[in-house]
Amino acid sequence: MQRLLVFVFAVFFAGAAMAASGKWFKGNLHTHSLWSDGDEFPEMIAQWYATNGYDFLAFSDHNTLQRGEKWAPMSTPARRAAFDSYVKRFGTNWVQSRWGVITNSDDTIADVNWVKLKAFSEFAPRYFKPGKFLLIPGEEISAEYQRAPIHIGGINLAELIPPLKGTSVVHVMDLNVDAVYQQRERTGQPMFPHINHPNFKWAITAEELMQVRRGQFFEVYNGHADVHNSGDDAHANTERIWDIVLTRRLAELGLPVMFGIGTDDGHHYHDWLPTKSNPGRGWVVVRARELSTPQLIGAMEAGDFYASSGVELKDIEVTRKTYHVSVRKERGVRYRIQFIGTRRGYDSRSEPLPSQNGKELRATRRYSNDIGVVLAEFEDSSASYNFRGDELYVRAKITSSRLNAAEQRGTNALDPKLLEKNPFAYQAAWTQPVVPRAAR
Ligand SMILES: [Zn+2]
Ligand SMILES: [Zn+2]
Repeated sequence: MQRLLVFVFAVFFAGAAMAASGKWFKGNLHTHSLWSDGDEFPEMIAQWYATNGYDFLAFSDHNTLQRGEKWAPMSTPARRAAFDSYVKRFGTNWVQSRWGVITNSDDTIADVNWVKLKAFSEFAPRYFKPGKFLLIPGEEISAEYQRAPIHIGGINLAELIPPLKGTSVVHVMDLNVDAVYQQRERTGQPMFPHINHPNFKWAITAEELMQVRRGQFFEVYNGHADVHNSGDDAHANTERIWDIVLTRRLAELGLPVMFGIGTDDGHHYHDWLPTKSNPGRGWVVVRARELSTPQLIGAMEAGDFYASSGVELKDIEVTRKTYHVSVRKERGVRYRIQFIGTRRGYDSRSEPLPSQNGKELRATRRYSNDIGVVLAEFEDSSASYNFRGDELYVRAKITSSRLNAAEQRGTNALDPKLLEKNPFAYQAAWTQPVVPRAAR
């Protein structure tokens, strides 16, 4: 309990100190390359982010830290086209390739061009521009439980963490999250785990996610085409999951808040389609003293950042009395600011989903509307919420009238019905939950 109090205290006062200092840095923490199942060379990906308004980028290939020797076969027309652009951009002095055989799935043998992938330590220094751009190593620790993907982003790891097996979804999350913190404690290198895409293959329910003791971050928005941020008839969307997790951690489990991040989970860098997982869809903006990995991690752990799928904020300021947010306005775009939270004394009843054909559905339970209620709403580009004192937590969501590129449907007016059906239909920003003083 002591530890919880210290933590909540820290979060609150981190919030209180927010307005004081720091610059905003935009980054993506979830990126795949040819080192795993992405379709582009890491240097080309770094180049894309460095020239598209980002300040930092973490790579997170499946179960690899982009170290050692790896050769990729240019065995498809798409890969050969990627190779041509790669050579054109970096030249034959940099690119290393050789011809060799490949065994096809039908056991025939073909001659293909193999390209040596550059290790993180080789290409990262090329992109490091002090105060301007930074690459961070990482790994998507890709564990599973009974074929359900349990993926944990390990940011700034010093050593590879092979995915650990466990006896339940929660156990697998706990083991892999703890492995990151154990490595951090052992090496002294700042690093953190974030729990990826809970709705990917409907792997993780809110009741499971909330139990991860050291789970401080999860992806409330992931830009991958198949991760179901918006849920479906049977499954809660990831924003709803967040509110359930926050409410039950604070009210029942004695655990601290969990922060929500936005990421790309980019895999596809050639075909730009809503059905592909392209870069530029989800990110975090972190307020830090300077652009360095330790500073970014420290600020994120203090909750001094927001997740975005398109909305840029001018300021977030939390004092003892007030939660204030303001938007960096874009011409012709309208904004809605909602302060969302759960009040003490909420109706905590929940029920499981009706079973289908006698089979119990593995899905988040249904809760009352007291959880994650809209405490106040403003049609404006800046707004303040005065804490009443009975809130377990308060967070803000800022929705713009601009449709989310990855969710191209509906009209271009902020349609409340569409928003209710799909909280990700429009571009948005999500600020972090704060525990008001009186709730402690
Ligand atoms: Zn994943
Ligand atoms: Zn991924």
